[in-house]
Order: sequence, then C-alpha cells, then structure tokens
Amino acid sequence: MYHVMAISEVPTKLFSSKSKVDLVAVAHGDGIGPEIMTATLRVLQASGANVNFLPIELGAKVYERGLTSGITDEAWDTIRAARVVLKAPITTPQGGGVKSLNVTLRKTLGLFANVRPVPTYHPFVATAHPGMDVVIVRENEEDLYAGIEHRQTEDVVQCLKLMSRPGCERIARYAFAYAKQHGRRKVTCMTKDNIMKLTDGLFHRVFDEVGREFPEIEKEHMIIDIGAAKLAIDPTRFDVILAPNLYGDILSDIAAEVAGSVGLAASANVGPEVAMFEAVHGSAPDIAGLGVANPSGLLLASVLMLVHLGQADAANRIQNAWLSTIEEGIHPADIFQLGSSLVRAGTEAFADAVIARLGETPRYLKPSSFEATAPIRVETSPIREAEKVTVGVDVFVRWRGPVEELAARLQRADAEGMTLGMITNRGVKVWPNGLPETTTTDHWRCRFTSPVPVTGGDVVAVLSRVVGEGLDLVKTETLCNFDGLPGYSLGQGQ
Ligand code: NAD
Repeated sequence: MYHVMAISEVPTKLFSSKSKVDLVAVAHGDGIGPEIMTATLRVLQASGANVNFLPIELGAKVYERGLTSGITDEAWDTIRAARVVLKAPITTPQGGGVKSLNVTLRKTLGLFANVRPVPTYHPFVATAHPGMDVVIVRENEEDLYAGIEHRQTEDVVQCLKLMSRPGCERIARYAFAYAKQHGRRKVTCMTKDNIMKLTDGLFHRVFDEVGREFPEIEKEHMIIDIGAAKLAIDPTRFDVILAPNLYGDILSDIAAEVAGSVGLAASANVGPEVAMFEAVHGSAPDIAGLGVANPSGLLLASVLMLVHLGQADAANRIQNAWLSTIEEGIHPADIFQLGSSLVRAGTEAFADAVIARLGETPRYLKPSSFEATAPIRVETSPIREAEKVTVGVDVFVRWRGPVEELAARLQRADAEGMTLGMITNRGVKVWPNGLPETTTTDHWRCRFTSPVPVTGGDVVAVLSRVVGEGLDLVKTETLCNFDGLPGYSLGQGQ
C-alpha cells in the first residue's frame, strides 16, 4: 500500500525542493471520483513514484454537513503544507446557497493557469482528426468566474465579468512560455472582443503585447465563436490555444470530445506556489458506483503531476504503460469501439491492465518523453499609472412606466454640470429617439455626463437628486477617462 501520512507527521523539511519524497494532498471527490482515484493511486504506487499521499476531505460530504464552502480548515492546512493537490471531480450542488468549490480552490490558491493538453491516440481511440494535438491554456481566476452576481430588479439579474491587466498578462506570458518550453510553434488567442471591447479587448491587447516578446512563436487571434467552430471541424490547424476562463472551459470540453472522449483529458491548474491536477470531466453521477468510469483523465493528470514534481521517469513509465494498454485494445466503455477495441474494461480492470504493462514501451503510438523541466515562472510588468478623470455617472434605476416620464424626472436631477444624455435598457438606447419595437424591462441605465471633470461629491449630488425624485436606485457606475480615453462603453445605437 502507498503510505498515507497524517498532517501532524509531516516534517516541514520535506517541503524543500531537495526532498526525496513528494507530498501530495489527495481528494477522492464525488460521484465516480472515489472509483477513479482508487484506480489512479494503485497505478501510482505500482509505478514506483516517490510520493506520500495526504488525504483531504472536500465536496459533497462537507456540503452536506452544512459547510457552504465545501472544504474544511484541515484540508486547507494540508494543501498549504503539501503544495500539490491531486483531486478527483466533485459535484457542485445546483442552485444558490453554495459556491463552486472548484472555483474556490483555483482562486484561493492562486492557480492562474489551467493547462489542458488534448492529443489523439489514433487509430486506437476513434477520432475524425488523427493529427490533432492541441493544448488549451485557460485563464483560471477571472472573467465571469468571479461569480459576483446580483438580482437587481424583478426582471433583471447580473453577473460581473472582471478582467485585470496583471491577470491577462500572467496567463498570456504563461501560454507563450509554455509554447516555447514544449517546442510548440503557434499560440491562438480566442476572445469576443468585437462585442466586449474593454474586457476581452484587454485580453487580446495584452496577448499582442506579450506576444512581441516571443518573436519565434506564431500568433493569431480568432473571435471565439468561429474559433470554437474551427476547433470542432479542423482541430489540426491549432497548436496552443489561449482563452479567458469561460471560453477556455468550453473549448477544452469540445477539444476533448473531438479527440475521442472527455474521459481521457487531463488538466493542470498551476500557480506560483501551489499546483492542482485533475481530470477535465466532472463527477459523472449517471455512472457513479457502476465501476465503468474511465480513470484515464485522472491518471494522465497524475502523470502531469509527476512531471511537475520532477519525477519524469515515473511519469514516462505510467504514460507508456497507459499507451500500451490503449494500443492493445483494452478500453473503458466510453472509448470502446467495435473493430478497434478488444476488451471492455471496468475501472479496476483497466488500472490492472496499466499496472501489468509498467515498464513496457508502446509499439505504435509515440512513446512518452517527459523531461524534468523547470517550472514556468512568469512576471508581470510594473503597474502602469494612468491619469483618471471622472466625467459622469451611469445611474441604474428600477422603473415601470413610459421612458419619457422617467427621462423627465431624471432631467430634474441634473446637477453639478452633469446632464442626462442617454437612457438604455439592457444596453440599447431607448431615449432620446428610441424605437417602439425595442423590448424593455424594469432595469434602466441613465447616463449623466459633464464636458468637464467632476468630483465624487458631484456624483453623490446627482444620486441624491435621483432619489429625491422618488426613483428606485439600483446601482451606479462612475464614468472615467483614463489618459483621455473613455473607460466605458457606448450604448447600443448611441
Ligand atoms: P461530467 O463530465 O461529469 O459528465 C458528462 C458526461 O461524460 C456524462 O455522460 C458522463 O457519464 C461522461 N463521463 C464523464 N467522465 C467520464 C469518465 N471518466 N468515464 C466515462 N464517462 C465519463 O459533466 P456533468 O454531468 O455536466 O457534471 C456532473 C457534475 O460534475 C456537476 O456537479 C458538475 O458541477 C461537476 N463538475 C466537476 C468538475 C470538477 O470537479 N473539476 C468539472 C466539471 C463538472
């Protein structure tokens, strides 16, 4: 059996890079998690990998005990001591009241890069695109995954999409450094900056800026919708793909399915201090307990983990044994195909088959050749100071009634040089000169602007007049110029 240490046994000296035995915090997860984790740990142990596992408790059982974070304080302590986590998928309870633990782990631990290699194993795993070998580098902390949501009126809810310059820079530099370290030729950035000019626009701009530091690597940018379509239909044209958080998540499931099965894809979540390794797929409640789940996604994630730990020999041993198993037609149900598969293996039988082939080299598929490489470290540029000038305020109000009446009331709130210039509803200009065809809700953005700079006090004066008009204030956004350029978008139709 592999050795499981209690956290109190862990000698702090072991955390130095010179340590012989690496510590890994292990979460067995929910649904199929315990089955695929047991199979993975058995292979790791048989491979001779020099690892001690520290079990941690998180996920469904912790939620059920009423802990809305889904993770115990002891688990945090163990993770911070080990610095490396191997995690099986967990079930995120639907609905309000609890937060996604996956997102909490990634953000709390500063795991800013999510790296998902998606090769193919043709002809042993069916795919329409045998030459595909894509790596998706997904920003892992920002974007809509900030999870800051509010119900603002009866009709309207909102989710904030937050992107930062350091966040964009870190992930862009990581993607290029990864491409360079792994001998990749091209990085394709995918965003929707034709619509979200400030948020996705920043991601794209920083990609261009950082890309100039890597002249040897080809760069391209695609709008995410056509990019995702091309990935599904022509994946061999891609090499490394860089994307903001949400798009990256969707792209990696598309890529994994196009390559053969989501059950094969592994994922490394990397930060400056801690790294967490997991399968791309979820807890698959539909097949939990049946003993049929494919453990490959988690097993191949553990291979990435061994490379991260500098144990490239063990990583190659496991990867080669896995490739040999696949070549011999021993396949879990999700990749079983009449013609190319010989044995439909359950989770445990598949792990046994991999263990039996430890020490073998694949005969047809390219043998594994991981090398112990230095972890990628990325720096971000010093903060860029900008001249910030307030020029107005967007006041969001809840209102049911004619827009003309709303405008008349708001115009009485003009103050301190700021005047009402525009009202939008769900981003579309509806005053002045709106069209009767436009669908409206009870959520209105009312833009007050000034030709000269205003102060915070001036903004407050406008707000108190809006409230004085008996209007229901929902929220405000201050309008600022940065170095003379507007830091806010126009209304649709403005
Ligand atoms: P899922 O990935 O769990 O399942 C999608 C489909 O793929 C299902 O038909 C499932 O049976 C199949 N599948 C997935 N993994 C497989 C495997 N290893 N072998 C064979 N078949 C496999 O996605 P879902 O159903 O949307 O999500 C289920 C739960 O997992 C949700 O609570 C979700 O929040 C959670 N989830 C967790 C993670 C994570 O912990 N990193 C990631 C994604 C989803």
